[in-house]
Amino acid sequence: MAAPGKLLMLENFIDGKFLPCNSYIDSYDPSTGEVYCKVPNSGKEEIEAAVQAARAAFPGWSSKSPQERAQVLTRLADLLEQSLEELAQAESKDQGKTLTMARTVDIPRAVQNFRFFASSVLHHTTECTQMDHLGCLHYTVRTPVGIAGLISPWNLPLYLLTWKMAPAIAAGNTVVAKPSELTSVTAWMLCKLLDKAGVPPGVINIVFGAGPRAGEALVSHPEVPLISFTGSQPTAERITQLSAPHCKKLSLELGGKNPAIIFEDANLEECVPTTIRSSFANQGEICLCTSRIFVQKSIYSEFLKKFVEATRKWKVGIPSDPSACMGALISKEHLEKVRGYIKRAHAEGAHILCGEGIDNLNLPARNQAGYFMLPTVITDIKDESCCMKEEIFGPVTCVVPFESEEEVIRRANGVKYGLAATVWSSNVGRIHRVAKKLQSGLVWTNCWLIRELNLPFGGMKSSGIGREGAKDSHDFFTEIKTITVKH
Ligand code: NAD
Repeated sequence: MAAPGKLLMLENFIDGKFLPCNSYIDSYDPSTGEVYCKVPNSGKEEIEAAVQAARAAFPGWSSKSPQERAQVLTRLADLLEQSLEELAQAESKDQGKTLTMARTVDIPRAVQNFRFFASSVLHHTTECTQMDHLGCLHYTVRTPVGIAGLISPWNLPLYLLTWKMAPAIAAGNTVVAKPSELTSVTAWMLCKLLDKAGVPPGVINIVFGAGPRAGEALVSHPEVPLISFTGSQPTAERITQLSAPHCKKLSLELGGKNPAIIFEDANLEECVPTTIRSSFANQGEICLCTSRIFVQKSIYSEFLKKFVEATRKWKVGIPSDPSACMGALISKEHLEKVRGYIKRAHAEGAHILCGEGIDNLNLPARNQAGYFMLPTVITDIKDESCCMKEEIFGPVTCVVPFESEEEVIRRANGVKYGLAATVWSSNVGRIHRVAKKLQSGLVWTNCWLIRELNLPFGGMKSSGIGREGAKDSHDFFTEIKTITVKH
């Protein structure tokens, strides 16, 4: 890291070497609002160099056995783990999240991503079918696709980048990755470990820069047949347009407007703290965060009282404060956008029960210009309001009552997104019924965000295309071929 007072200068990592760029983007510390880092403002030229390096490395890397590649992934996981504290400090500073979150969630999961795919890549099999009456045997083979283009967002920077990178290289592809320009530091730190882990030059190339320049150059490159993207729906639309002339393979993991449905027989002792976490963890900047809470009428007042009380205890603090539950939002623009939603809700006649504009935020003098806001609860709001339809991606949640099961399923499904839902009830039959009818790629019942990495992860409707997970990621990062042998 840079010495105190000195700007941290990042460089692209291409063909195993760090290379400077001729222009740079300012990167801010969200907890102070000060520029602390310079990120390469790469474009076509840098992407071209990275693609050339990835092309040259592909024959060697793809011809290694899965076991050899798995060993490299395992070594990389070990090296990341040895740097856990340094990476967590960097992630927290760069993103604004609490150090506790970076230490216990982001970096451990990045380590786990490499370990998980190092193991899972060893267990895939292919198919074989006999057609004896014609003397034929059919079988399938899987081969790596080639150069994988990976584009990741700012909310869980190293976690989401490695969730793509690990299965891509495990399957024998080489990679050109472009992390978010808002949070590039931990990806740059990862590059420093690649040589020691035994990753050959050109297998992983990281080009830093903005979406419309570096991102579009990567997506439009004719020699990159596959794009794995996590980010917003409008960007996905642009990526789809740019990829269309090349018929690229696309994996799109996008936003959500995730409902929590709380029935009158829910265990509120567990439901309230979990729904607080699902609404406000990581400043509400997780695609899986709850932003619409439907509560059955008979327990609505009781729930709301407990929920608002608990929200007021969800402490906002500087990221290094061990007692803080929430740090700073990613940027000034994003903070303004989130605040704008609250203003619109207020103008529409909704009630803001706590948080923004109601309670006071106490921050040290040096953090006054940081991008902090209090967790905010909105009620008396219509389903048609933009706060109930659009992804806010901040610490804001709406609570509304419902009467019947049928009604709440219809309302929960009444948005364009379909990523994650939670259902709270002690009636097993109802849980299965409701979970099945929700238009959502993931449904957690009586819990939130318990992940099993083997199983498919992804969204329906405008929340995305494709799934990620042990088998799904392997399928995406490989091409399948059916071979028929007549004997
Ligand atoms: P974003 O779409 O603005 O940016 C994501 C990435 O795409 C960044 O690296 C950005 O530089 C790049 N990009 C932007 N414009 C581009 C273009 N024209 N061409 C190519 N690349 C471009 O999203 P964000 O604001 O960084 O992230 C927040 C969004 O990500 C939210 O919508 C959130 O729900 C979503 N998200 C989804 C998941 C999931 O797994 N479904 C996980 C995390 C975040």
